[in-house]
Amino acid sequence: MPLPKDYISFNQIRTYRNCPRQYYFSYIENIRTAINDKVFLGVVFHDAADFYLKQKINGTTPGIEETSEYFTYTFNKMAEKTEIIWNESKEKAFKRGLAFIKYFVHDMAPGLKPMMTEKEIECKLPGSEIKLRGIIDMVEEDFSLTDFKTTTAKWSKDRVKKSFLQMYIYKFLFEESIGGFIKELKFKIVYSKNATGIKHQEHSIQAENVDMDKMFEIINFAIDNIEKGYFYKNEGYICNFCDYKNICSRTEI
Ligand code: SF4
Repeated sequence: MPLPKDYISFNQIRTYRNCPRQYYFSYIENIRTAINDKVFLGVVFHDAADFYLKQKINGTTPGIEETSEYFTYTFNKMAEKTEIIWNESKEKAFKRGLAFIKYFVHDMAPGLKPMMTEKEIECKLPGSEIKLRGIIDMVEEDFSLTDFKTTTAKWSKDRVKKSFLQMYIYKFLFEESIGGFIKELKFKIVYSKNATGIKHQEHSIQAENVDMDKMFEIINFAIDNIEKGYFYKNEGYICNFCDYKNICSRTEI
């Protein structure tokens, strides 16, 4: 069967690797589910960080107040039209998100020299007509590429290691579509369980340590299996957090 969309993305590959059946529900059946408040906060944070970085690129860096106002407006506007599961109250989530963006502007952004922000890029995979697509958070003037994350707790080394596939994909997309050579890939992770004690951690990998062959192997494996219609269950711990667990238990395909 053909791919359900006319491109493959990191999110699709990650979902397939987590559980092929989950991929089936999400991308083949296109069953939409409510998003949880943590995901929602990440979306609003990225939008506000993009607001800040775009203006910085244009030479008019906004302050904390202006960026906070933008965050507040976006949070309320998006909350109105999005189905969200509030694990913590909406007010608590808002305060935590606002504290994140203030921390970003005050503690992280002054040292940044962005030349590109929140850019959707796609290009064909080598030797194939299939397109790979991704959205890059930021590339700086020194050709380092950053992905921002918001979370409740520090990432473990293992989690960082497992997450670099996303960055390899972005490196490939940037170099193929825009040109230039990405020298360093960085995760900047902002974390706290509440609106106080915000911290961030950074993890990076140098270009010479990027294994592109491995990346293509993983992408092609996912594409091949999707085209063959392999959507088996990967039952285990992740089922506890799966949006499709009720449907899954009563569905055979
Ligand atoms: S409940 Fe488990 S097996 Fe079923 S789709 Fe979700 S993760 Fe996969």
